[in-house]
Amino acid sequence: MSGLIFSCQEKPQVDLLIKNVNIVDIEGDSILSSQYVLIQADSIFAIGNEELANQYNPAQIINGEGKFLMPGLWDNHVHFGGAEYIDENEQLLPLYLAFGVTTVRDAAGDISLEVLKWRDEINEGKRIGPKILTSGPKIEGIESIWPGDLEVGTSEELDLALDSLEKLKVDFVKITDNTMKPELFLEAIEKATARGWSVSGHIPAALTLDQASKAGQKTVEHLGYMLRASTPKESEISAGRASGKLTAQEAIALQTETLDDSVAMANFHQLASQGTGVVPTLLISYNIAYLDENEFEKDTILKYLGPKLKESYQWRIQRMANDTPEDKQNRKTGFEATARLLPIIQKSGMKIIAGTDAGYLNTYDYPGLAIHLELQKFVEYGLTPREALIASVINGPGYFGLEKEYGAVKIGKSANLLLLNSNPLESIISTLDINGVIKDGVFYSRSVLDQMLAEIKKWVADKEAN
Ligand SMILES: [Zn+2]
Repeated sequence: MSGLIFSCQEKPQVDLLIKNVNIVDIEGDSILSSQYVLIQADSIFAIGNEELANQYNPAQIINGEGKFLMPGLWDNHVHFGGAEYIDENEQLLPLYLAFGVTTVRDAAGDISLEVLKWRDEINEGKRIGPKILTSGPKIEGIESIWPGDLEVGTSEELDLALDSLEKLKVDFVKITDNTMKPELFLEAIEKATARGWSVSGHIPAALTLDQASKAGQKTVEHLGYMLRASTPKESEISAGRASGKLTAQEAIALQTETLDDSVAMANFHQLASQGTGVVPTLLISYNIAYLDENEFEKDTILKYLGPKLKESYQWRIQRMANDTPEDKQNRKTGFEATARLLPIIQKSGMKIIAGTDAGYLNTYDYPGLAIHLELQKFVEYGLTPREALIASVINGPGYFGLEKEYGAVKIGKSANLLLLNSNPLESIISTLDINGVIKDGVFYSRSVLDQMLAEIKKWVADKEAN
């Protein structure tokens, strides 16, 4: 009898309550203190005060006192790749999660079928890892240097390549410029955009950024390309490259001589108005420019990365082995000239999207840790912590039209969250001060994350012993 009466008064069940936590309102640059966040399945079900929380019966309670809750990080430019060490790439999935990265945007490699499989398994809850959004194989010209890409030389081949990407159900399209003909490059942007994808890529030397932007290119990958639009001679230089009148070196020299911040601002503003953003990947440029000054090989995180993946770092190192002191200085000067564009881009209204180029081949650009360092670099070169965080957790989803589900700790948003011990709006290094990670509503405490890290480390040690 009493059971019956009780059941009428029974509180509704929820999966998870985070009580008395500080919510980081990134957009508003403020903290909402003493909040009670209720999570049901993979999304945020309710937020309110203690009274509201008391109306529910949570299966799990986390004490958020003194802690800071923000959306999980997005690394919007990573690479899974290396067909001979797929198993090492697989180990990166828990590694990303252990570093609070709940979404990665995979910008092509040579193991697309595996990445697509992992993406689906993670979405179905069958595998632990970040949400993956992948371009699948990228589109390139014939006989490019990139293994695993889709090489096209004609419009017909381009159509077939896009058909195959549709069959693979890729999340966006990446196009690069190694051997891609400029006119076909523009056609590829237009056709991929018409099929509903957001298009990312490099910019062929024979094109201006404005041409790619007008064709619909949604992001320029790598900050270096932005230098091209920072001179009044951009059209002249790209025409010179198209006709072969200018060598690559001559083009760079002319560009460097004529850099002009006011031209940069006007051009970036134009690109912004056409909906084009930029993924700076500042960290990898820094790593390469300052390779000789840093002792990356002593980084303890190397213990979490497989031997072949680490070996893939060597190609860049060897390429630079015979550099003269002048070459080294030029790389640093080039990096600094590029990095100082960051606040101009921010002011112009162009969306900055934080991505790192982490993964195979990209020297000492560590999956998981990299996005934290990238955001630190953003702040070092003139963005506020708020702007840096927006670039990862708001502009990342925005690229895919997913802003409704991600980007804030609000009712109805996805429960992909980061619980920090300190306030990231005050100091960007707080993103590394991780107390717990919530992925699709599942809470991973610090001790669980440490256990995951220990398992990865052991896996790598065993691999290296064999
Ligand atoms: Zn890349």
